[in-house]
Amino acid sequence: MSAQILDGKAISAEVVAALAPRIAALPRPPGLAVVLVGDDPASAVYVRNKTRMAERLGFSHQQITHPATLAEAELLAEIARLNADPTVDGILVQFPLPKHLDRVKVLDAIDPTKDVDGLHVVSAGLLSQKRPGFVSCTPAGVMELLTRTGATLRGAEALVIGRSDLVGRPVARLLEHADCTVTVAHSRTRDLAEHVRRAEIVVAAVGVPGMVKGEWIRPGAIVLDVGINRLPDGRLVGDVEYAPAAERAAWITPVPGGVGPMTIAMLMANTVLSAERRFGRA
Ligand code: NDP
Repeated sequence: MSAQILDGKAISAEVVAALAPRIAALPRPPGLAVVLVGDDPASAVYVRNKTRMAERLGFSHQQITHPATLAEAELLAEIARLNADPTVDGILVQFPLPKHLDRVKVLDAIDPTKDVDGLHVVSAGLLSQKRPGFVSCTPAGVMELLTRTGATLRGAEALVIGRSDLVGRPVARLLEHADCTVTVAHSRTRDLAEHVRRAEIVVAAVGVPGMVKGEWIRPGAIVLDVGINRLPDGRLVGDVEYAPAAERAAWITPVPGGVGPMTIAMLMANTVLSAERRFGRA
């Protein structure tokens, strides 16, 4: 068997294209504020990509950049200003933050109705109880890709490897909401291979290159590789051994070009949704 590719670039373009009529129907363009603190090169690239896409979609957007020495009180005051700004529908603070800034305090400061990154504890609680809120962007992207396979999710054996608040935990919730039977594996899991062998859906979100061996994959499984790892030779690879896994799986996401591009598309979708809610249209 040779897997069909879940092309995140093409699917994210479709997701973004589908937003156009919703944006046009709003009384004003959706507003997104992206805050970057410090000079982490990877964060700078992520922020640039997000603001570029917001620009392309005609959002009113602002990129606010601060030096790494920014005081926490100043960042919190900035967030308070954005919370109060009626033209801002979404606030995203790019992580990781410099060490002296408390991630939890910063996240807690964001108005949950503008938490388009879906990382606020209120967003996590709403998701947990299957109530409307904001689903964090990478997990939402994983589910969008999964839906595109057309596979029956009800009752499917799903394995999520990783339990971070950013990816693993919300993905597990979403799979459970889709009526999968979900197992969550982590660094203390005994015999990961055995869990992978049983899974009809595997979501790998660890950050260790090629740790999921291709030979473990159940024939016909759907493999969603969230991991993004840079090898010493500069190549980007996922957490799954791609070529041998693709021999056995029915569907697989490549790295790069799989889950990665979906994250920005879902951020745009969340920002449009936030604007719609602000105008009582969702
Ligand atoms: P974290 O480091 O926060 O979490 C990693 C998880 O993997 C932890 O739960 C950890 O377990 C688990 N883990 C570590 N070692 C093992 C092991 N040997 N077996 C099983 N589980 C293990 O990472 P993130 O969730 O933030 O990110 C995961 C990956 O996804 C990274 O490569 C990151 O770059 C990528 N990523 C990609 C995005 C995209 O847009 N495509 C967005 C966000 C992240 P424990 O809890 O026990 O420590």
